[in-house]
Amino acid sequence: MHRTLAISGGCDATGHRLDLTVREGILVEDAPSGATFDATGLTVAPGYIDLQVNGAFGNDFTTDPDSIWRAAVRLPETGVTGFLPTLITAPDGTVQAAQAALGRRPEGFVGAEPFGLHVEGPMLSHSKRGAHPPQYLAARASAHDWSPANGVSLVTLAPELPGALDAIRTLTDRGVVVSLGHSDASSVVAAEGADAGARFGTHVFNAMSLPTSREPGLAGFLLTDDRMRFGMINDDVHLDRRIVHLIWRAAGDRMILVTDAIAAMGIGDGIYRLGSLEISVNGMVASRADGGLGGSVLTMDRAVRNLMDLTGCTLEEAVVAATARPASLMHLTDRGALKTGNRGDVVLLDRKGNVVATIASGRVAYVSNPDRLDGELDDTA
Ligand code: ZN
Repeated sequence: MHRTLAISGGCDATGHRLDLTVREGILVEDAPSGATFDATGLTVAPGYIDLQVNGAFGNDFTTDPDSIWRAAVRLPETGVTGFLPTLITAPDGTVQAAQAALGRRPEGFVGAEPFGLHVEGPMLSHSKRGAHPPQYLAARASAHDWSPANGVSLVTLAPELPGALDAIRTLTDRGVVVSLGHSDASSVVAAEGADAGARFGTHVFNAMSLPTSREPGLAGFLLTDDRMRFGMINDDVHLDRRIVHLIWRAAGDRMILVTDAIAAMGIGDGIYRLGSLEISVNGMVASRADGGLGGSVLTMDRAVRNLMDLTGCTLEEAVVAATARPASLMHLTDRGALKTGNRGDVVLLDRKGNVVATIASGRVAYVSNPDRLDGELDDTA
C-alpha cells in the first residue's frame, strides 16, 4: 500500500489555492488516497532550511554531536525541515565526532533532516572571533579532508588567514560551500575569497570588518557583490533595526535567514553551554561572561515573522529567504519549492506566520491542532 498524505484547502504564500499530495516522502501529481490534512485558511510553504544551528531544545552540538538527532526531532515545531548542525571552534576531533554522529541516523527517524555540517572555525580571525575560544583557533587555513561525502557541506573561514585562498579553492572543488566570516578582511581580500570560490557570508555585520568611508570591509563587500549570498540573524538583538533596513534595501534578494540558535532555543532563560563556553540567556539575549553575544535563541518561524515586521515585506518574500534561497546556495535541487518530485517538506502557517503543522519528508513531524488531520497518523509514515 502506498502511504500518502493530502494537504488540501490551503493557499500558497501569494494567496493562490494550493493542494498537495505527498507519497512515500515525495510530492506527487495524482489524487490523494490516505490521510488528509485540512489546510483551510492556512498558508502552505516549503519547509524552512536553517544553515546555522549550534544547538536547540537543550542540546549543544559542539559538546555532544549525537544530540543533533534529538534536536532534529523537535525543530519542526519551528517550521524547519532541513538544517546544518553547526560546530564552533573546539578541540581536535570534534568535527570527526560530528561526522560520525551524522551517520548514526536513528531507526524510524521523523524530524528535520540534518543534511550536512556547517563547520564554523577554527580558521577564523582572532580579533573577530566572537564566542569562539582563542586557544583552539588555527593560525593557518586548511581544507582538511572535508567534503559533502563525509558530511561537511558548509565551512566558514576568514579569507585573510595564510593558506585561506588555497583552502577555499580546494573545498569549492570538492563541492563544499565556503562562507567568509569571523573575519577582519578588507573588501579586496574578501573579493579574493570570492574569486577563489567563496559564495556566502556568515551572519552579516556580526563578527566582521564593517564599512567606513574608504574601506567597505567584509560587510560592505557582501552587500555589493552579486556573487555573494549571506546569512542574517534577524532576532532583533544581533542587528539594530536600521541595519536590518540597510541590509534589506541594499541586498534583500541575496539575504538568507539563519538562526545561529544555541541549546537554549525552545527552552528559556538559564545557563547553557556553547562548546567550551558558558552562555547566560535572558529573554532573547544570549550573553557570554565578557558581555558579548553567544549565539541566539531565535527560531526560524520567528525570523520570518521578524522580517515582515521590521521591513514590511510580504510573507512570500520572507519565506523565500528561509527556503528557496538557502536550497539554491547549497545546490539542493529537491527542496526549497513545492513542486512535483521534490521532497515532501511542507510548513503550514497561519496568517501571522505561526507554525500550525510541519510535514518533513511526507511525515507529520509537528501539528498544533490534531483535529485538522483526518486518518491514521501511522498511515502517513
Ligand atoms: Zn559565528
